[in-house]
Amino acid sequence: MFRFAERPDSTNFDNDDTLDSVRDEVRRIYEAALPDFVTDDDRIEFPKKVMGKSSDLWKGFKSDFAKAQHGRCGYCDIRVVGTQYCDVDHFRPKAMVQVLDTASQGTEQDNASNVSDRKALRTIGTGYWWDAYSWANFLLSCEICNRTWKRNYFPVDCDMAQRSRPQENALEHELLFHPFKDEEPINHFRYELDGRIRGISPMGVATIETAGLWRPSLVVQRKKHLATLARLIDEMRAPTASDDLVRSHVRTILEKGADDAHNFPGMTRVFWTQISGVSWEELEHLTR
Ligand SMILES: [Zn+2]
Repeated sequence: MFRFAERPDSTNFDNDDTLDSVRDEVRRIYEAALPDFVTDDDRIEFPKKVMGKSSDLWKGFKSDFAKAQHGRCGYCDIRVVGTQYCDVDHFRPKAMVQVLDTASQGTEQDNASNVSDRKALRTIGTGYWWDAYSWANFLLSCEICNRTWKRNYFPVDCDMAQRSRPQENALEHELLFHPFKDEEPINHFRYELDGRIRGISPMGVATIETAGLWRPSLVVQRKKHLATLARLIDEMRAPTASDDLVRSHVRTILEKGADDAHNFPGMTRVFWTQISGVSWEELEHLTR
């Protein structure tokens, strides 16, 4: 996971005059339907059309998020723009909320992107509908993280088996890492040399489960990247390492962890710190 320094520029979104009326219409639809929502198993469909137009207006802002996220998925931290269409994910699911059965998180199919046996303990038939058109609730995501793994799962700090339907203005402690909020990945994640990711906080554990960051296809890709990083760090630490070699390797590591790196800069930063004990900021500072 990566924490982006700059939030996406919301100018296009703020200047879109149609969004206020679309929001009002969605609110009207939900406020009319909610009195009949008696048990959490009831269902309110998020409207496919609002005011005669397709309701998926968030798609129009994909490029703003692609730019801010340097084309990378907000969950798996791999560059996806240019290789797939990508999604504007609703971080807080708009239409329904599911509770993941953590004992049955699924099996990734060999040589395919599908997952089998990923099960929900419960499905609550309405979500965070009031955030369907909220700038802070959008995130560029690859289709695999969004549609195959995260779907409508959204962990919060409570007894998830008892979780009730989301309520507007209710205070919740979210347990899914958000790349534009103030959490530092180093406080939540660790990486093993074999490519596995490990949660070291409730947020870290829940994020890995929710976005399926443990899946074997990601482990394999991370392992190759980590092997290179580990070699660079080993060579820098060798007693015979020259100043030129150290400088050159530091530059390489900084490039791999840069904002605009293609794959896994978030992992690069955490791994550097967990191995060296030196923060990423200190490393950047040293080279100025
Ligand atoms: Zn992804």
